[in-house]
Amino acid sequence: MTEQKIILHNIYNREELRKKLFSENFKRTTFSFYRYVNISNPNEMRNDLYREWSDLGVLGRIYLAKEGINAQLSVPEHNFEIFKNKLFSRNEFNEIPFKIAVEDDGKSFLKLIIKVRPKIVADGLPDDCFDTTNVGNHLSAKEFNMYLNQPDTLTVDMRNQYESEVGHFEGAILPDADTFREELPLVLEILKGKEDKKILLYCTGGIRCEKASAYLKHKGFKDVNQLYGGIIAYKREVSELGLENKFHGKNFVFDERLGERISGEVISKCHICGNTSDRQLNCANDACHILFIQCEECGLNFENCCSDRCKDVLHWDSEKSKEERRKNAGIYTHHSRLRRKISHS
Ligand SMILES: [Zn+2]
Ligand SMILES: [Zn+2]
Repeated sequence: MTEQKIILHNIYNREELRKKLFSENFKRTTFSFYRYVNISNPNEMRNDLYREWSDLGVLGRIYLAKEGINAQLSVPEHNFEIFKNKLFSRNEFNEIPFKIAVEDDGKSFLKLIIKVRPKIVADGLPDDCFDTTNVGNHLSAKEFNMYLNQPDTLTVDMRNQYESEVGHFEGAILPDADTFREELPLVLEILKGKEDKKILLYCTGGIRCEKASAYLKHKGFKDVNQLYGGIIAYKREVSELGLENKFHGKNFVFDERLGERISGEVISKCHICGNTSDRQLNCANDACHILFIQCEECGLNFENCCSDRCKDVLHWDSEKSKEERRKNAGIYTHHSRLRRKISHS
């Protein structure tokens, strides 16, 4: 066999990728999975998976680390079984549970990105100082509903502020954190002295709660529980089993859709005018790119920019550097903590 140089990364630009994706004549299944499991050589596995999955037309964002895998992806329907069998044939990923998105057009990802990271979720925790396998009880949607809002129960949203702002469970504590790393100390602070209460945790797909629940138990909390499979699995179980939906608003997801509506009800407000809206977007001035909420009308007035200043920058001629554009970007005073870049690349 002749030696052939294989390119192990995406080589097309966004426009080409979008065209390719929208001209596909087959359906895609969008789903996610994760597992904390020992992976001895993540770099080698990364290249193997990249080869295997690009052949199957897989798109998505996958993180690998020595501690495990965290994957969000879309697979052509006709390759789904092959994908699953190949994945399950690896010891590390045998019978790994999939969380399949409902009501999805399969156009969530433009390319395949597999990254090796020190951790699959950046939590800032010293993992060697506590037992990360001693996790909280896994609750089904039905069980979660049953305990929610009970007198001795405290429910904590383990996601970031920009995620819980557009959707959350009834009566949940919504910590004002920008990152998961910030969230954990904040939650400990909020729950101080409540070590004997029943604690319910939830996040998008369940992965953050795996680590957080083990950490809370290590910190002396006696009855720690977590929504198994997160909001994604909850939504599915609620519709399949006809349960009461106690999640209000939109489930924020990191892909092209920026959020999947769950209850049909809008609980957040436009950051510009204060009218009800859950239209999340990144400021159209790329040098700013802040994630914020803006109603349709303000979107028209501001040309999808966060401020007049960014709108001005948008109309500058092309010679101005990105640095200059950034310097002149709008100062988003009342929501400066939202200055987080949600990258889709
Ligand atoms: Zn508005
Ligand atoms: Zn801006």
